[in-house]
Amino acid sequence: MSDIVPLTQPDQAKTFEVNSANLGPVQVVHRDCPLCGRDNTDEPDNLYSYDVWTLKDCPSCTMTYIDRGPDYTKLFKELSWEHTTAVEEKRRADLRPLGYKASKLTRLRMHLLPRKQMPLMLEAWSNPGNVVDLGCGDGGQMDKLGPGFVPFGIEVSTALAKAADARFSVHGGACINAPTLDGLKAVGDEFFAAATLRSYLEHEMNPLAVLNELCRVLQPGGVAIVKVPNYGSWNRMVMGPKWCGFRYPDHLNYFTPTTLKKMAQKAGYAVHFGLTYTLPTSDNMYAVLKKERGKGAARGSCGGGGCGGGC
Ligand SMILES: [Zn+2]
Repeated sequence: MSDIVPLTQPDQAKTFEVNSANLGPVQVVHRDCPLCGRDNTDEPDNLYSYDVWTLKDCPSCTMTYIDRGPDYTKLFKELSWEHTTAVEEKRRADLRPLGYKASKLTRLRMHLLPRKQMPLMLEAWSNPGNVVDLGCGDGGQMDKLGPGFVPFGIEVSTALAKAADARFSVHGGACINAPTLDGLKAVGDEFFAAATLRSYLEHEMNPLAVLNELCRVLQPGGVAIVKVPNYGSWNRMVMGPKWCGFRYPDHLNYFTPTTLKKMAQKAGYAVHFGLTYTLPTSDNMYAVLKKERGKGAARGSCGGGGCGGGC
């Protein structure tokens, strides 16, 4: 393809430079399917591909993902959410006025629906103990933890990690300044009672590796509470490329309830969906991933904690 210039380093055979219309030259890494590992280079591009950011629908496991991702440094610094927001808003503005009215209705609907607060979900699903927030930012989201929960976080931005560490240390916790996978590797086995992955997993270059490593540091019976955009939502089908879940190239993984469940099970969790966790009327979905207690535990079984029977 004319927009791709292979780099010369022999140890970076799958690294390319793409010339994005809005972001300029960006070094990217080829991605095989993040769920099953299939190389989908020869598969047709998903119709929501945009600029140089090609989405693929894996024919083996149905996972949808961007098959080239900026390396970690670029993704979290130069191409961070804040930096690409302006680019995204322009992209959506260019698609107006057709989608504008529907977009406003979407926002109204989202405000009318109850929001599932992570602290409440933690209290419902987890025993008290150490809780880690992956991609914790400045730590503000952990302010409302209930008694008995000690806040920890992993954050790649040095400035944000410093702010989070100051916040968490007051309560006996800490923040690790590192990419998530590296940060988790620095933690001992079964250190955490719970984890929160809030609008995080869709950004992650290696989501399966992170879920695997997270499983190691969770206590048996520990939970990871996940919130991600729901690619299976009706609003995505109605809004098409104007759907709020598309963010190029920050959002690398586009999960449906099915693909999220498959990935979590592959990493060794039992997956629980409450009755309202994966409603197709919502742009986001929730899942509670539970680390099984032992080899004899039945995968996918309900362990209580408010599961509405949808698991
Ligand atoms: Zn796949």
